[in-house]
Amino acid sequence: MTDLKSMTPEELTAWCKAQGQPGFRGKQLFQWFHRGVSSVEEMTDLPKALRELILREEGFSAPIVERKQVSKLDGTIKYLWRLRDGNCIETVLMRYHHGNSVCISSQVGCAMGCAFCASTVGGRVRNLTAGELLDQVIFTQKDSGAPISNIVLMGIGEPLDNYENVRKFLTLVNHKDGINIGMRHISLSTCGLVPGIDRLAEEGLQLTLSVSLHAPDDETRSRLMPVNRAFGVDTLLAACRRYFEKTGRRISYEYAMIDGVNDTPRHGALLAQRLEGTVAHVNLIPLNYVEESPLKPSTRVAEFQKQLEKRGVTATVRRRLGSDIDASCGQLRRKAMAETARDGGKEGSSCGFSMGTD
Ligand code: SAH
Repeated sequence: MTDLKSMTPEELTAWCKAQGQPGFRGKQLFQWFHRGVSSVEEMTDLPKALRELILREEGFSAPIVERKQVSKLDGTIKYLWRLRDGNCIETVLMRYHHGNSVCISSQVGCAMGCAFCASTVGGRVRNLTAGELLDQVIFTQKDSGAPISNIVLMGIGEPLDNYENVRKFLTLVNHKDGINIGMRHISLSTCGLVPGIDRLAEEGLQLTLSVSLHAPDDETRSRLMPVNRAFGVDTLLAACRRYFEKTGRRISYEYAMIDGVNDTPRHGALLAQRLEGTVAHVNLIPLNYVEESPLKPSTRVAEFQKQLEKRGVTATVRRRLGSDIDASCGQLRRKAMAETARDGGKEGSSCGFSMGTD
C-alpha cells in the first residue's frame, strides 16, 4: 500500500513521476487531500488513469463519521471517526473567541496507562499515520464548516510515542500548499517521554509543548502515571528546562485536580517550589469524571490556583467545554467499545473490533 496522504507535495511529485505521470500532479493531489475529498472520483481534474492507479495502490481512504455529538452549551463537537481498518478515534472541535481549535488523537488507544484517563482502556492498538492525523483536521473542518486555526495534539494517545508520524504530520499541516497552520498555533501534549522531549527540542519548532505533570512529587505522580517510574519528576523538569533553553518557548504544565490525591496544600507548596523562577504556565483542569474510576474531581481548585499565584507561578483554570457530551479524552471511544462488546460485536457498531489484534 502506498500511503499517499502521508506524503509532502515534493514526495507526491516524485511518486507521480515514478508512475509515468507529470510531476505537477503531485501538488494537485496534495491540494485535493487538504480539501477533504471522500473518494478518488471527487478529484475531477486528475486523469482517469491516475485515479485508477491510486485505487489499485489502495493509496487513498477517508475517515467516516461513526458518531457525532454536538454540545448544546457551547457548540463543541465531538467526532468518533471510523478508519479504513475499522478502528475508531476521537477528534474534538472547540470554539473560542480567538478561533476554532481542533483536538486530535495521535494513536488508536494508548500504552501509557494513566490512572485517570479513559484512553488507556484496551492499551495501544496502533499508531496513526501522518495522513490520519491530518485527516482529523481536514474532515473536522469540512464536516463542521468551522475554519480551523489551532490544533492541539491532546486527544487519545501519546504523540511522542508516535514521533515519526507526528513529526511528518507537522510538516504536512504547516505546508504552504495545504491548510498551512502555523507552528505557533499548534500545541503538543506529552505525559513526559523525556527522549522525545529532547528530540523535539532539537527540531527547534515554534509549537507549544504541554507537559502533563499532575503531581510535583514522584510518589504521587508514579501512582497516577506509570511513565513516572521511567522518567521521574526531576528528570522531566530538567528536560523541560532544556526544551525552553533550546526553543525559547514557554512550557505549559497540565494539572488535573483530583480530590485528596494531588490537590492538598502540601502538593500546592511543592509544585510552586518546583516551578518558581521558571518560565512556565500551569493549566489546572478540574478532573473529568471517568466512569468506574474511584478518582473524584477536586473541590480545591480556586485555593490551589491562589497558592501558586502567590508564589509567582502563573496558573489558570481550564474552562470546561462540551461537558454535556463526554468531551474529554477517550470517553466516546470507550463508550462505543463497551456497546460493541455488549452487542456481541454485531454489524453496525464496528468500533474497536480490531482491539488487541495488531
Ligand atoms: N498523552 C498525552 C496527550 C493525551 S491526554 C498526554 O498525556 O499529555 C491530554 C490531557 O488530558 C493530558 O494532560 C491528560 O493527562 C488529560 N486527561 C486525561 N484524562 C483526564 C481526565 N479524566 N480529567 C482531566 N484531564 C484528563
